[in-house]
Amino acid sequence: MTQAPKIGLVSLGCPKALVDSERIMTTLRAQGYSFSRDYAGADIVLVNTCGFLDSAKQESLEAIGEALNENGKVIVTGCLGVEEGLIRETHPSVLAITGPHQYEDVVSAVHDHLPPVPNKFVDLVPESGLKLTPRHYAYLKISEGCNNRCSFCIIPQIRGDLVSRPAAGILGEAEGLIRSGVKELLVISQDTSAYGVDIKYASSKYRGREVKAKFYDLAKELGDLGAWVRLHYVYPYPHVDQVIELMAEGLVLPYLDIPFQHASPNVLKSMRRPANQEKTLDRIKKWRDICPDLTIRSNFIVGYPGETEEDFEFLLDWLEEAEIDRAGCFKYEPVTGAPANELAGIVPDEVMDERFAQLMEVAQNVSYHQLAKKVGRTIEVIVDDVQPEANRAIARSKWDAPEIDGQVIVDNATNIKIGDIVTVTVTDNDEYDLFAEPATH
Ligand code: SF4
Repeated sequence: MTQAPKIGLVSLGCPKALVDSERIMTTLRAQGYSFSRDYAGADIVLVNTCGFLDSAKQESLEAIGEALNENGKVIVTGCLGVEEGLIRETHPSVLAITGPHQYEDVVSAVHDHLPPVPNKFVDLVPESGLKLTPRHYAYLKISEGCNNRCSFCIIPQIRGDLVSRPAAGILGEAEGLIRSGVKELLVISQDTSAYGVDIKYASSKYRGREVKAKFYDLAKELGDLGAWVRLHYVYPYPHVDQVIELMAEGLVLPYLDIPFQHASPNVLKSMRRPANQEKTLDRIKKWRDICPDLTIRSNFIVGYPGETEEDFEFLLDWLEEAEIDRAGCFKYEPVTGAPANELAGIVPDEVMDERFAQLMEVAQNVSYHQLAKKVGRTIEVIVDDVQPEANRAIARSKWDAPEIDGQVIVDNATNIKIGDIVTVTVTDNDEYDLFAEPATH
């Protein structure tokens, strides 16, 4: 049997800090970790610090130093954790720092640097954790926060700058999910293509190998795990080209969710969108050359302050030329605290409504024509639901993400279960969905 990963715990400070330590230990114990009494026997050391008085700060800093010298892998939590700058200045090599009462953050930092080894005989919680999605697909969050500053968005103000998880932690989680029956991983973050920038693409050890925290490397490693891997919230940076090659090879699903929000250079500039280049259309064409099966899903905002009729017409033409397979649309709404609220050129409601309707019509046409190209093809679909009374299965193709895209309605679906991946032949389409029959062998 694989040995449980061992944690050393140094608990300083008041009884409240001790209670925190106990709660952290209880959670980690329930997840299969064990504890070591000495530094040498531990795979990682947690130092729960106190920062009340200067003398306590000093004691905490010394305890961190000792743990680093004796073991080398240290996660800091507790009251001194709020002074991250001070800790990093004195001990730049600590792996992670969290503040007081942040149990989930400490536990997730431990997962990232020392993934749990699941053991179905002793674990109290399912290997996959508690999920709110059906058993056959799961969201995989690779980072938190965002380094961009789009003028209509307050996420960076709320969640802060980009903080990427080490690749080993993500891959360990993905593996656990797949072992527990997940067949499709939906990779999410605020800016997936920026993954790893904040940690300078640092490597972490996964299955004895060093894996870089880089978009391409992570996508490839995830693809190698054998599940469907779907990438959300990607921006059209040049380095995305390489990932399209993984799609062409079949390692990653031929699907990109890119929230373009607009196409007109004036509006994009005013929105301060990332990867906002006039060459995006060329980039998309290149991607389709590399991977002709690529589906692009996107969102657009109409009625952004200052959007002129020309800007809007530009967007409609662009959407057709780029053949955006799946397009969602929002009418602009001011968000409290967003810089866009200061912009002039408010678009009247009736104009906004009209533009919304026009964009949805164009998007529907594009979607219809893109889907019509699939009729006659034999494809794999994943089953989300079955309707035994109608002998029908509601499934999705590799081109459809759950909840937001279309479906594949499979008739004559005998002996098909939720979560199955089955091969079907597409018989027809409408604006959003495909219709199919099980493929005959
Ligand atoms: S990319 Fe822009 S819209 Fe998305 S979270 Fe970052 S700042 Fe907000």
